[in-house]
Amino acid sequence: MAATSSPDAISKGREEDFIKKLIGQPGFTKIAEALRRKRKLEPAVKFEENDLTVYLADLRGLGETINLLGEMIDKGLLEPYPADYMVQCPLCGSIYVETKYQCPYCGSIKLEKTRIIQHVLCGYTDTEIHFREKRRGEIILVCPKCRKQLYREGEDYRVLGTIYECRDCNRRVAEPRIIHKCAVCGHTFTPKDALYKPIYGLRLTDRGLAFMNKDLVVIAVQSMLRNMGFTVKEGVELKGISGIPHKVDVYAESDDGLKIAVDIVRSRDEASALRAVVKRLDLDQDISYILVSGLEDKEILDALASSKIPIVPPESLEELKRTIEEAKNARRGRTSAMKQ
Ligand SMILES: [Zn+2]
Ligand SMILES: [Zn+2]
Ligand SMILES: [Zn+2]
Repeated sequence: MAATSSPDAISKGREEDFIKKLIGQPGFTKIAEALRRKRKLEPAVKFEENDLTVYLADLRGLGETINLLGEMIDKGLLEPYPADYMVQCPLCGSIYVETKYQCPYCGSIKLEKTRIIQHVLCGYTDTEIHFREKRRGEIILVCPKCRKQLYREGEDYRVLGTIYECRDCNRRVAEPRIIHKCAVCGHTFTPKDALYKPIYGLRLTDRGLAFMNKDLVVIAVQSMLRNMGFTVKEGVELKGISGIPHKVDVYAESDDGLKIAVDIVRSRDEASALRAVVKRLDLDQDISYILVSGLEDKEILDALASSKIPIVPPESLEELKRTIEEAKNARRGRTSAMKQ
């Protein structure tokens, strides 16, 4: 059989092995938590001793997880995305780059940012620099044309805008030229010569999202049930009272005949939640049917509650364990009552 790179072609068993391996890795909980919260791992940049390091801010102190991330990329669960762009020195690669504004007429970087002021009384308009005067140790504004002092903005003078004025050629510059100066090697360069490189983060693919929301929880629930002594049955279709077969995400039976069916519903998948209500009504009352979901919609939750479907959030599978133990005890109670 020809090998294929499609992640969907991975057999169910290998997939499960992979998930178990993932869950068992140190740091996986931290990665999973960050991915569930933000769906991505954002990059951060560190520059030490002339060496640029890009690391994922969410995984600080988890150096050994890099292999894990590599595997998740290989399996199509994560993909790199350009998260940020950085100016780098074309000579030495440093990210410590100063930005300066340059006069397009004479090349000077001595540009002063100033306001354009209009003296209301005489109408004279010029940059603020030309209104400034020092009187008794204080800077005041004096109209260069009529020599009257200016006191209050909006009353005796108006500000018409902001502009740069070149200290060397005295020209006014609305849009200065941008130049960069490397703080490490001193090289001066324009945006045309700069290195402008993407910094990559990692984000969940659609498949990765489904994996985090569902597959991972399915595997976790299955392994929990196995640990509790249940026999997990794969690909089971439960025949409803109406005769319609129902698929569930996890189905397991205990030796003493307790039947557990669990469906995992994504947080905003209201349609699946409503299907669960129909399923509950149609399924044999002998089967304990539980939903694992972070659903928030109140109407949906009410509908589930009135159908007596227990619902537990995926992040607290301990709660699921308790729910199952309750079902187990309730059954034991019923069985011993029948025997008496
Ligand atoms: Zn100039
Ligand atoms: Zn004036
Ligand atoms: Zn440099």
